[in-house]
Amino acid sequence: MRIVVIGSGFAGAVFARLAADLGHRCKVFEARSQVGGNAFDRKVAGIVAHSYGPHYFRTDNAAVVRFLSRFTEWRKTVFRVLAKVRGKYVRFPISSGTYEDLYGKKLSTREWARELAARKVPLADAANAQEQLLSSVGEEFYKLFYEGYTAKQWGKHPRELLPYVVARIPVYKDDRWQYFSEAFQAQPARGYARMFENMLSHPLIDVRTSTPWDGERGDLTIYTGPLDAWFDCREGKLPYRSLKFRTRILARKNYQPCGQVNYPSLNVPYTRTLEWKHITGETSPLTVVTWESPADRGEPFYPMPTEEAARMAQAYRRLAAREKNVLFLGRLATYQYLNMDQVVWHAMQAARRALKPAPQPEESALGLPPFPSHWNPHETGYPKGTAHHLPGS
Ligand code: UDP
Repeated sequence: MRIVVIGSGFAGAVFARLAADLGHRCKVFEARSQVGGNAFDRKVAGIVAHSYGPHYFRTDNAAVVRFLSRFTEWRKTVFRVLAKVRGKYVRFPISSGTYEDLYGKKLSTREWARELAARKVPLADAANAQEQLLSSVGEEFYKLFYEGYTAKQWGKHPRELLPYVVARIPVYKDDRWQYFSEAFQAQPARGYARMFENMLSHPLIDVRTSTPWDGERGDLTIYTGPLDAWFDCREGKLPYRSLKFRTRILARKNYQPCGQVNYPSLNVPYTRTLEWKHITGETSPLTVVTWESPADRGEPFYPMPTEEAARMAQAYRRLAAREKNVLFLGRLATYQYLNMDQVVWHAMQAARRALKPAPQPEESALGLPPFPSHWNPHETGYPKGTAHHLPGS
């Protein structure tokens, strides 16, 4: 089969590699001058820094780790975030450690459970992000950590947003200080860019960088760009949220105590600062810091978590499901707020279904049980039964 892949981020690169492994020829169109999509990273003053916002690889899916481990070694780590509130650094997400940093009092697990229970606003079914937060952490923490950050991140009040967007963040029953709860948390040891180059390095894969897609189709076409663009926005323009980055090399050893500091206050124009050496593991007498600010315009990064956008995306997905020999994969093309491991898993499943029969050893990696995590694809309003636009699904 001759396969055309549009975009070389996780969705496109994983699909292309699996197809090539099975003997199919792939042509990959990449508009940017480099591969890797928004996971791309590069060295700044000798320190690996992510070019399009922090990419924390984490998963509970062993098959995903096994597949990616063909192309990289890993530097295991635990991703840690602090929030700057009331003039000090406070552990985030919310845990009894957060309480301790705010009030100077260490609570036992039982005391913390009681404290949290007393704070929660009883709301049976959260209709929006504000209600989701009030019912899980209560008014004070909502105001302090979420209201301003969310308003900056999305340009909308949490009341106007779907609950799933804030339900991404755990609330801990103890004093755990880690951003994510997945078992495997790591960075590709030599960076994402290197991992993508290795993945796409195959005699049957022809990668064209700095080459926007010219309309060429394959026997099978994999589209990973914005969903509405494929259909010339005929159902309306889908809103994607963008980000702006300001990166500086600082002549000092450290800027902040950990890789990411969140700034929930509306008085601060940015949402977070990233100090890359904490995240990517270099030691250097210098440090590299990025200030991240959300933006309406610019490259698409996130689907907007609103009811209206979800409805429009649904209409596009119905059109997508009717496209012949085209698969829509990845965050932009499915209009789902997917994490990297979910995108890899979708691409693996899509390859397994579209490219049958798959020989060993890929079949064993692909034939594993369904995604073993808390993630529910229907939470994001994805229509039941059409979750991946796969032939035969
Ligand atoms: N969020 C917040 N305060 C924070 C961190 C996150 O209110 O300090 C909310 C915000 O609405 C954000 C969402 O939680 O968009 C998801 O956060 P996450 O860190 O997963 O965002 P990402 O890293 O994907 O940009």
